[in-house]
Amino acid sequence: MSFLKDIFNFILPPHCSVCKNPLGDEEKSICDECWGSIQVVTPPFCERCGKPSEESVCNECIEYPHEFTRARALGEYKDVLSSLIRLFKYSHKLSIGRKLGGMLSTVLKNDEIMNYSDALIAVPLYPVRERARGYNQSDIIAREVSNYTGIPKLNGILCRIRPTKSQTELSKEKRKLNVKDAFMVKADEQIKWKKLVLIDDVCTTGATLDECAKELYQAGANEVYALVVARASSSIT
Ligand SMILES: [Zn+2]
Ligand SMILES: [Zn+2]
Repeated sequence: MSFLKDIFNFILPPHCSVCKNPLGDEEKSICDECWGSIQVVTPPFCERCGKPSEESVCNECIEYPHEFTRARALGEYKDVLSSLIRLFKYSHKLSIGRKLGGMLSTVLKNDEIMNYSDALIAVPLYPVRERARGYNQSDIIAREVSNYTGIPKLNGILCRIRPTKSQTELSKEKRKLNVKDAFMVKADEQIKWKKLVLIDDVCTTGATLDECAKELYQAGANEVYALVVARASSSIT
């Protein structure tokens, strides 16, 4: 088998799925250079939404407060990070998602407030969509964050009860409507008085996370924070 593999690698040398450069022996499907070039979000940022900001609370958070009280991201949804997320979500590259989850866990550990959370909850997909994809990307990320931080992940608490359109092409107002009442909390007693961290892959306007947070608060959560791999700095209005 290894002989066949050698021949195959000779004809078609493995290359990085992002930059297309040849891979070294130890590298899996993404080169070390690409992994190293992810730009992580660094202070100063808005203490609520986590967006780069000179003010402690950004104008947007003052004008349109989110339902969640705090959000943090690993990086911006652009360049290498956006390519990695797309490979993870649409090309079944689960190992990429797991590695991103591991990186995201350090963001949680370094946050003096989120670090004291009681449980993690992944933003759910509608079951039909999850079956079609074969996995819920947010759940894979949350599992890794749980492994690395020791904060338990709660399963089957939050459900998506109706299909929603992809938020990508929608305006800010339409995004809100698209996810309105799309989620339901199933087991209230498990989240009462708890400090929860919602986990998702990408956050743009925060409409999905807001809707989830609203449901969790209504069901008795004490605090709801949000942790995402990438924050898309959108021009969506
Ligand atoms: Zn590369
Ligand atoms: Zn803000």
